[in-house]
Amino acid sequence: MHSTVILEIALPTPLRRRFDYLPPQEIDAAELEHLAAGILVRVPFGHQELIGVLIAVKSSTEQDIAKLRPALAIVDKTPALGGELLELCLWAADYYQCPIGDALQTALPTLLRHGEPAQLRGEWIVELTTEGKGLPEGALKRAPKQAQLLAELQARAYLTKTDLDLLEIPRTIVKTMTEKGLVRSREIAITPDTPAQLLREAALPLNEEQAAALAHIEYHHFNIYLLDGATGSGKTEIYLQAIAQILAQGKQALVLVPEIGLTPQTLLRFQRRFTVPIVALHSGLNDRERLEAWLQARAGIARIIIGTRSAIFTPLQNPGIIIIDEEHDNSFKQQEGFRYSARDLAAVRAHRLQIPLLLGSATPSLETLHNAQQHRYNYLRLTTRAGNAKPPDIQLLDIRGEQLHEGFAAASLAAIDHTLKAGNQVLVFLNRRGYAPTLECHDCGWLANCNHCDARMTVHQTPRHLHCHHCDHQRAIPRRCPSCNSTKIQPIGQGTERSENVLQELFPGTKVIRVDRDSTRNKDGMQKLLVDVHSGEPCILVGTQMLAKGHHFADVTLVVIIDADAGLFSTDFRGPERMGQLLLQVAGRAGRADKPGRVLLQSHHTEHPLVQTLMLKGYHALTDLILQERRITQLPPYRHLALIRAESKRAELAVDFLRLARKIAEQLQEPNPFFSYLGPLPAMMEKRGDRFRYQLQLNSAQRKPLQQLLTQLALQLEGDALSKRVRWSIDVDPQDMS
Ligand code: ADP
Ligand code: ZN
Ligand code: ZN
Repeated sequence: MHSTVILEIALPTPLRRRFDYLPPQEIDAAELEHLAAGILVRVPFGHQELIGVLIAVKSSTEQDIAKLRPALAIVDKTPALGGELLELCLWAADYYQCPIGDALQTALPTLLRHGEPAQLRGEWIVELTTEGKGLPEGALKRAPKQAQLLAELQARAYLTKTDLDLLEIPRTIVKTMTEKGLVRSREIAITPDTPAQLLREAALPLNEEQAAALAHIEYHHFNIYLLDGATGSGKTEIYLQAIAQILAQGKQALVLVPEIGLTPQTLLRFQRRFTVPIVALHSGLNDRERLEAWLQARAGIARIIIGTRSAIFTPLQNPGIIIIDEEHDNSFKQQEGFRYSARDLAAVRAHRLQIPLLLGSATPSLETLHNAQQHRYNYLRLTTRAGNAKPPDIQLLDIRGEQLHEGFAAASLAAIDHTLKAGNQVLVFLNRRGYAPTLECHDCGWLANCNHCDARMTVHQTPRHLHCHHCDHQRAIPRRCPSCNSTKIQPIGQGTERSENVLQELFPGTKVIRVDRDSTRNKDGMQKLLVDVHSGEPCILVGTQMLAKGHHFADVTLVVIIDADAGLFSTDFRGPERMGQLLLQVAGRAGRADKPGRVLLQSHHTEHPLVQTLMLKGYHALTDLILQERRITQLPPYRHLALIRAESKRAELAVDFLRLARKIAEQLQEPNPFFSYLGPLPAMMEKRGDRFRYQLQLNSAQRKPLQQLLTQLALQLEGDALSKRVRWSIDVDPQDMS
């Protein structure tokens, strides 16, 4: 009789535990021996079938072995997740207190989780048909793009998708010519060769600071580098040159960017520089494309992987460097379910892989700055703009007591007019979408509150309605005040739609382009909107923080920030940090290369110390000031936080649950000067979507005790009946305290 073999499997269920199964019945002994962690296994679970990940093969179980069920089948003998990546997922599930199934769900492409084989397809290419080959040179003159495609295909055998993007030939041209029978597309096999020539275009000669920063980076072991340099100081050029080094060693580079920054511009910049295969992983991909990109990275075919948050879980055949651009960006932290920070996981992963991690930002997070100041990270600074570009000139506009025209100061409107007349572009920043933040009755003061949240409903004009941005509830705009029947109800305050209207009225001959979540809802929405901007014609861009990130607007020479004070009085302790980051990121859009930029900040609080510090002394003085405060108030980066959130339609249930959590926690760890509890307290928005929301904050001087406590606490809470009656979650290193 051969010894018992038990498969320990992680399943996509909300439970934190793992599950034991017997091997599938038809498996033979030789196959059994080759079962490795990371393999996908199909198993029965209750009345359903699930696909899980094999975590370990063991010889005993704590469960009753007679009750174990056999797995149904091995989906694929090659592990879907290699050892290193599986370890990372297990570590992350532990650290972020999330069920392992949730973590694996994030790491594995959907199609694999549904049992699709992990097989690479070929690469899509387009080539001439016999008929197409028969065309003379210079044919199709009346359709210039078709003529261009023809000429390119007459010069080389085929074109890949990347080639088409670089040549700016839209796919619709390929489609038209396919319909005419002139070209066809098919898939060809791809192999992971290193091209003899890595660079498509030459690298820029670095300035002194850039050269010094690049020279500091070591490629053969783990180290974290903070590349701290204003927008336009040449950080991306350093990424490109560091990547060139890695590629020359035959390795791969993983580059993470904020969601909004992943524009074709970013990708194109990499494609223009390198000949190697590059894949982009972002929310715009369908499941098939995502799987392809993932497989290409795993096979070592894709040499540069550019992606958003979840790309940190991309398998790499031969990892050489991880780069995180705009490392301070909030989008790197997932705010629900598996609440991981891709930036922090990158540090863990780079350490395990013994490769460098490069964090870049014009406005580094306080956590990262603190680590750099403590010499845990190598601190690389770029203080000037690259090339000959000048930093923007930032001016505060005191608008106290001033009669504003629909939110605009006279000086701002004059500056806009002046800029347009000089043939340049203007960016107006307002971090509020919709027409107006709310509706008010002039006679009785009634406000359009949401019935389901502690929040006001936003007025929208296109289409006309009231919309709650917190629970998505919508209703018609009333003609009369629901409270006093007056007809004098009016929108209060400014939203992007309203600013767009005003600007269009004031500057009728100028194109006004609004960029916010509403105007970019369609696929490629942002790209389409920005076509006019990139044409360089005078225009006005009005938008939310979508505009603040990642885009380069070469012809914008004036930025107007309508309300610099938003965030100054936020109840989230990160409010001032975020405000400073956002203002500088927006300001950084102005004036590149040879066109100096100007930034106007409208403020009601020009005397506020945070505003003064930022204006007079800059971001680093601001962060020094905020760091001092954080030290005194015992907040990150000096302390480690975890938040336990609970919500319920019945407020008392959520409160009871958190009281229980605190009681259990205090039994495990008494409060002391190095470990404290705060709460249960109502969340900033106590009611949202008809649920009452509360939180308990845990604050520890050290990570370890907090981790240990949370692990035990989570298990005990999961076992308590109350935990099934509320929605609850644990957020480790929370970024958003609401
Ligand atoms: P960042 O990533 O810090 O915003 P970039 O790397 O995008 O900065 O550089 C900003 C601009 O300056 C780009 O147009 C880039 O091509 C140019 N640039 C960067 N480094 C140099 C250099 N050494 N010499 C000339 N131009 C440069
Ligand atoms: Zn009224
Ligand atoms: Zn609501």
